[in-house]
Amino acid sequence: MTLVDQEWIVILNPLAGKKKGGKHKERIFGLLDKYKISYKPILTEGVGHAIQLTKDLIEKGQRKFIGIGGDGTMNELVNGIFLQTAVKPSEIALAFIPVGSGNDWVRTVGIPHDYEGAIKTIKTGSFFLHDVGKVTYQENEGRKARYFANIAGIAYDAFVVQRVNKKKSGNYKMTVLSSLLKYKPQVVRLILDDKEVLNEIVFSAAIGHGKFNGKGMMQLPEAMPDDGVFDLTVYHECTKMQVVKNTNKLYDGSFVKLPFISQHTAHKVRIESDSQVYIETDGEELGHTPIEIEMLTRSLKIICGIKSRMV
Ligand SMILES: [Mg+2]
Repeated sequence: MTLVDQEWIVILNPLAGKKKGGKHKERIFGLLDKYKISYKPILTEGVGHAIQLTKDLIEKGQRKFIGIGGDGTMNELVNGIFLQTAVKPSEIALAFIPVGSGNDWVRTVGIPHDYEGAIKTIKTGSFFLHDVGKVTYQENEGRKARYFANIAGIAYDAFVVQRVNKKKSGNYKMTVLSSLLKYKPQVVRLILDDKEVLNEIVFSAAIGHGKFNGKGMMQLPEAMPDDGVFDLTVYHECTKMQVVKNTNKLYDGSFVKLPFISQHTAHKVRIESDSQVYIETDGEELGHTPIEIEMLTRSLKIICGIKSRMV
């Protein structure tokens, strides 16, 4: 059997998008049938399950996956692809149908938000080699690693994700604003490509490949997912009122012109701090500093609506 003939494994998270994954599964499976996509469906049963499933199935010979879920599900499939040891990650084809509540990653790579549009992309779309970041961080007494394809956020960004994940419901934008009351920014040392670029109070920072996180916030307006560099946006010390007043400018990227914002690019990122500064990737809360982020250039083969742009 060639790779072209191999059926797809569909990994669906029934809890994604406030349980939309489960509620809409028959509709999505019906559309896959309509477009004559041959597949075997598997439903995930909890956090981390998609990582293990993807890893195990690749080690058994599977090479084609369709993820159905939100950014968290996408992140788990990516981690399964990078944790397996059978083949190079770029030998695995990853397609995605978004049903999450944020769906931030698909905005950059041109996968439509509607099910039929996403499925048409799988049927006709071209392969794209996407950059992936590997974050190494501290958790309890040990070092841990996590891969990400969209955006990692530290400081306020990670604080908001922790609070959103704890609540499981509620309005995201309201949580972004209400979290301000409890948040205390810390001093961060940011080292890009082995050069210290700042050592001061940082309100928040985003590092990544895609342009959007936080349910449509354009935190990295100039990021390209296949140029081999991380884009960074740093929010320097600012007042809470400045954050409240400018929240709307996050959605069109115009906030980057504000005086307390700086933008950077790097191949390698290191973040240090005296007190613990936390990190999240693709909406999953992880551990804390010291944090290292390394670039795995064009290492993930995805099927999407944009063409590879070799630079
Ligand atoms: Mg990039």
